[in-house]
Amino acid sequence: MKESAKENLRSPIRISQSVQELLRCPRCHARLEQADQQFKCTNPECTALFPIIAGVPVLINEESSIFSIDDIKATTQAFLGDLKEHRVKDFIRRLVPKISSNLKAKSKIAQMEELLLDQSDSPRVLVIGGGILGPGMESLTQNAAIELVDSDVSFGPRTILICDAHAIPFEDGSFDGVIAQSVLEHVVDPYRCSDEIHRVLKDQGLLFAETPLMQQVHAGRYDFTRFTHLGHRRLFRRFEELDSGAASGPGMALAWSYQHFLLSFTTSKRLRMVLRLFSSLTAFWLKYCDRFLIDKPGALDAASAVYFMGRKSGQVLLDRDLVKGYRGAG
Ligand SMILES: [Zn+2]
Repeated sequence: MKESAKENLRSPIRISQSVQELLRCPRCHARLEQADQQFKCTNPECTALFPIIAGVPVLINEESSIFSIDDIKATTQAFLGDLKEHRVKDFIRRLVPKISSNLKAKSKIAQMEELLLDQSDSPRVLVIGGGILGPGMESLTQNAAIELVDSDVSFGPRTILICDAHAIPFEDGSFDGVIAQSVLEHVVDPYRCSDEIHRVLKDQGLLFAETPLMQQVHAGRYDFTRFTHLGHRRLFRRFEELDSGAASGPGMALAWSYQHFLLSFTTSKRLRMVLRLFSSLTAFWLKYCDRFLIDKPGALDAASAVYFMGRKSGQVLLDRDLVKGYRGAG
């Protein structure tokens, strides 16, 4: 590793002091105390140790997570060493027309921003899977009144905390809002993650989540679940619904399907890169159909991804009432 990368490994914690005070042990929920480059659980029966790498606390409960602290250390070092390579790849990626398009995130997150500021002068928002900036998040990141805690299971350009959504390392009621974009398909137990989100939100706290319905496996082995609009609603049954619908439409779903149909012919990396390029160049236009389709009932049954915006509630939506919420074309 280069000297600069080694120095980076000892940089100061980027989480604000007030948020640091809310951190709790992901194993037992006891308070943590910082000692040099690690956090230690203050519960004498737990005494778990969590490293701080490059200013990022790694608060993973290894007993329940599919990630180990050693896995994360390895990805951190790879990330710090390969920043230049990431930039080159990102540059090439930007030249190819995209087959994906999120039509709702920007307006819904703007709506959430207003609601957050109605509820508090300085709202605190946990972003799960926030290592890379999600679609429509720009305005939120630029609002100085809102404190974003960008968390992820690996190192990314925005990661300030590494944790697992199955065991969120925060005190109950710590946040005014939680955002989870394209995350819950990558967790083994989304219901437990939903309970954790509910727990770390304040009463009336806000949630915005987007999750795929019609998307092929991505992120390799770390992809487990898809949700229909109502399946997604049920996942958040302990929330009052403010809004929900298709975030990405059937056009994007078709483009992905076509691309992955072609990709399934080969495992050759080089050939797959060519097929990705070819399918992107021949199917990018499909996403424009979604502008016309996105709010149609049929699109809700065929969406690439669905979204849910809700408020933490003390009530649970009954399954009998859940099915009354069907808004598709069937
Ligand atoms: Zn503990």
